[in-house]
Amino acid sequence: MLIVGAGPTGLALALWLTKFGIRVRIIDKLGASGTTSRALAVQARTLEYYQQIGLADAVIERGQKVAGLNLWVRSHRAARVPLENLGEGLTPFPFPMIFPQDEHETLLIERLRQHGVEVERLVELTGFEEREEKIIATLLRNGTDETSSFAYIAGCDGARSRVREVLNTGFPGGTYDHLFYVADVEAGGPPVNGELHVDLDDADFLAVFPMSGSGRARLVGSVRDDVAKDHEHLRLQDVQGRAVQNLKIEITRVNWFSTYRVHHRVAQQFRRGRAFLLGDAAHIHSPVGGQGMNTGIGDAINLAWKLAASIKDMSVDDAVKSGIMFAGTPDQVYSQMKRLYDHVGGFGHLLIMGQAGFLEHDETVLGIRTFAREVYPRIKQEFPDTAVSGVTHAGVAI
Ligand SMILES: Cc1cc2nc3c(=O)[nH]c(=O)nc-3n(C[C@H](O)[C@H](O)[C@H](O)COP(=O)(O)OP(=O)(O)OC[C@H]3O[C@@H](n4cnc5c(N)ncnc54)[C@H](O)[C@@H]3O)c2cc1C
Repeated sequence: MLIVGAGPTGLALALWLTKFGIRVRIIDKLGASGTTSRALAVQARTLEYYQQIGLADAVIERGQKVAGLNLWVRSHRAARVPLENLGEGLTPFPFPMIFPQDEHETLLIERLRQHGVEVERLVELTGFEEREEKIIATLLRNGTDETSSFAYIAGCDGARSRVREVLNTGFPGGTYDHLFYVADVEAGGPPVNGELHVDLDDADFLAVFPMSGSGRARLVGSVRDDVAKDHEHLRLQDVQGRAVQNLKIEITRVNWFSTYRVHHRVAQQFRRGRAFLLGDAAHIHSPVGGQGMNTGIGDAINLAWKLAASIKDMSVDDAVKSGIMFAGTPDQVYSQMKRLYDHVGGFGHLLIMGQAGFLEHDETVLGIRTFAREVYPRIKQEFPDTAVSGVTHAGVAI
């Protein structure tokens, strides 16, 4: 497979496919990976995926757990919400995790290298076409075009995706009016204490995120309309408004500053023939909630196991052995489900979501039918209040 783009999505896809024994080439038009922090939040679901390949501990070791959210009003901390055990009983990783995207990419590159795969840098995809069950891709290297053929192509090439352009797939959506700024700073003051702080005043919006290393923080704020027009030339001192004073932050150094508009767009198709769109190439949305990078990594893992199952003609048993789904006799599935239910404890209901691509495999269809006929009624009997509505790539999702 040709993976276009070595951001978090492409790197996660390369790592998972390599784990499944699928040969990949991963290219990026840039000479080095990003050096700015961008996505900070690593969600519990991403850590759960990483746990499957022994990567979660490294993220937790290098990253930082966020213990609390502090809400500020009129220069005073009005409330603190503990976050450390926010998802207790739902996930082995119940805490918000901060791990800057540049360090995250470095970790994925290190792991990939351990599996013998190097990102090919300064190689740009300029075009491709599908011919006789092959993707014929044109790659620009050192000013020269070369042509190579692949079984599949994965567009992990970000919001301005060339793969999406070649597929001529629409990317409808919109852009929010407000201009935001982001700054990684070295600073002192009460909000630089390893926790999350948000100013709720009627002043400009400001959130302060912790970063690893003492005295470091990420500021995310809104830019006032009166200065937003000339945003190409803005500096932090032009945009920091009353909120910075309200939170009593003393900034000593700005390591990175950028302004951005927030878009929300989704590609009209995620797949056409042998070409796929993943990550920002397929969907972009507000960074609030910290889901952009995480959903891209989720796309990658979802596609990786499905492709592996399809290419290697994996049986349900193989899939179970590889840890990608539950299966077995109804009794075995039921006991796995029960263990899962016991694990989620008082969560109240088990939500099992279906994923369309899953239905393409006969054995999976059989598994779902078995589940529907045999297992579901027994779960309903034992847990009458439980809502069960489908099957995911991991067998079940809660
Ligand atoms: C300020 C900010 C804060 C954010 N905060 C969060 C957060 O807290 N949590 C979160 O989950 N997300 C966050 N995001 C979003 C997150 O950064 C993106 O969702 C993420 O980078 C998407 O990863 P990707 O691998 O899909 O694409 P990208 O990271 O954009 O990577 C695409 C790669 O493809 C390469 N490429 C492009 N075209 C070609 C080509 N033709 N040939 C070869 N290579 C090519 C590019 O050089 C690039 O390296 C934030 C974003 C910003 C800007």
